[in-house]
Amino acid sequence: MTDKADNICPQCNSILSWKNQGYFCDFCQQEVKKTVFCPDCNEQLEKLQACGSASYFCNHCNELKSKSRVKVQFRMNSQA
Ligand SMILES: [Zn+2]
Ligand SMILES: [Zn+2]
Repeated sequence: MTDKADNICPQCNSILSWKNQGYFCDFCQQEVKKTVFCPDCNEQLEKLQACGSASYFCNHCNELKSKSRVKVQFRMNSQA
């Protein structure tokens, strides 16, 4: 199963599609970047790909974070 339903446009709240190795909002016609933050220290996490499932590593806490706990944020490219 995918977690597609969690991928929501920050601007119009519609479900994002996957395009050119990134997320894309068909309604806003804009690319959206997915950023993941540590639930404990709020640092940006590094995505690790292991055996088909993704996990996240925090360089600040120096440990792996469970995907169910991380904070996901979507951003338009046009927003600095
Ligand atoms: Zn949108
Ligand atoms: Zn951390």
